[in-house]
Amino acid sequence: MNLADSEIVASLLSKDNYAIEKDINQADFILINTCAIRDNAEQRIRKRLRELRALQRTHQGLKIGILGCMAERLQKQLMEEEDNVSFIVGPDAYRNLPQMLDNIKDGEKLAETLLSETETYDDIEPVRYDTNGITAYISIMRGCQNYCAYCVVPYTRGRERSRDPRTIVDEARSLFEKGYREVTLLGQNVNSYRWEAESGKRKAESEEHDLFTNHYSQITNSVGFPQLMAMVAEVSPLLRVRFATSHPKDLSDELLQVMARYDNICKCIHLPVQSGSERMLKLMNRRYTPEWYLGRIDAIRRYLPTCSITTDVIAGFCTETEEDHQATLEMFRKVRYDYAYMFKFSMRPNTYAAKYLQDDVPDDVKTRRLEEIIALQGEIALENNQKEVGKTFEVLIEGVSHRSEGQLFGRNSQNKVIVFERGNLQPGQYANVKVTRCTSATLIGEVVDNK
Ligand code: SF4
Repeated sequence: MNLADSEIVASLLSKDNYAIEKDINQADFILINTCAIRDNAEQRIRKRLRELRALQRTHQGLKIGILGCMAERLQKQLMEEEDNVSFIVGPDAYRNLPQMLDNIKDGEKLAETLLSETETYDDIEPVRYDTNGITAYISIMRGCQNYCAYCVVPYTRGRERSRDPRTIVDEARSLFEKGYREVTLLGQNVNSYRWEAESGKRKAESEEHDLFTNHYSQITNSVGFPQLMAMVAEVSPLLRVRFATSHPKDLSDELLQVMARYDNICKCIHLPVQSGSERMLKLMNRRYTPEWYLGRIDAIRRYLPTCSITTDVIAGFCTETEEDHQATLEMFRKVRYDYAYMFKFSMRPNTYAAKYLQDDVPDDVKTRRLEEIIALQGEIALENNQKEVGKTFEVLIEGVSHRSEGQLFGRNSQNKVIVFERGNLQPGQYANVKVTRCTSATLIGEVVDNK
């Protein structure tokens, strides 16, 4: 989300004649887009700010601004604590940035952190400034109001808003025309994407628009996530479509059916479980049980037999017992995830957990439980990958392998990285690659048929 937001900021500023300076020593402004999801992310920003002090001493007039969730969470307190920060801008206030940069004077401190109920930046075409030219993110919605007990996002990104689907499809089409071959639709909870035409005028406009009369959907006034996925998939069969992130409580059969219908919708679902314990899930306010979650996994396997499944998990949430932890390990054994983002619980200020629960699992216990989850997931990922050996996948080539100039890497529909000999192939092309061996993180293969 932050990468996508930075591209929106770059677009807003480039319209006001600002340009990206890759040499930090030459920059007039340094904008740091921040994450507040874990304490560790915030500490890294504070370290970066300390490192920048030396540059500020030699570069008179250089101004540093903090963008994003940390700015929103801490507001002016951040500028009091970090005296080398000149301005802070929250995620819904980026339109004010150009004016802020134009007018800020030496020694001045400015803050814009008002959250919006309507801002989606849907009219802004992001500037893809740090890109491989092949894969891109498209932000389809902003905010979240699920209020998971541990999560700061509803407080830093505001209420959920969905972007006009016409602008999303136009952005996907424009990317395809520029040579991009994969888009990832982004939102905190994409399954609850819903756009409604608001006024008679807008309704009339939408009825005229071909998006709303295409053969998939007869919908004229309301678009949900499955319809949106179909619309983007229809831009071109050569454009792959991914999405992140799904909330298990909202993962519908309708979406799975749409995914099955379109070959270019990638067969990979990120379905954060967070815990395998019913008691923990309730305390986390996740609004599903382990049984419900496993039912959704069954549905994925039924509609999409080749789909990979990935997850997020938290070790050591408030009051987590050994039994709860074992339930999480059991969940991992049952689902057999292809990949997992695994973290120790980190208490975030202002969340439900901070107000009403105790961060009472000792750090060494959190660490040990996390290590057990990581070790188990490592075994499962390796076993899953070993089952891919001998299979042939269509791979979208993303670039040259970091290990060897003579090798390329890309991903299959399941989002697994595959490395293979370069031959005459180029990034941006599709290739059929047969997997010959693997590690727990990577498949290694050979091209069997060049497209
Ligand atoms: S669904 Fe829960 S974890 Fe995800 S962003 Fe919303 S509140 Fe946070």
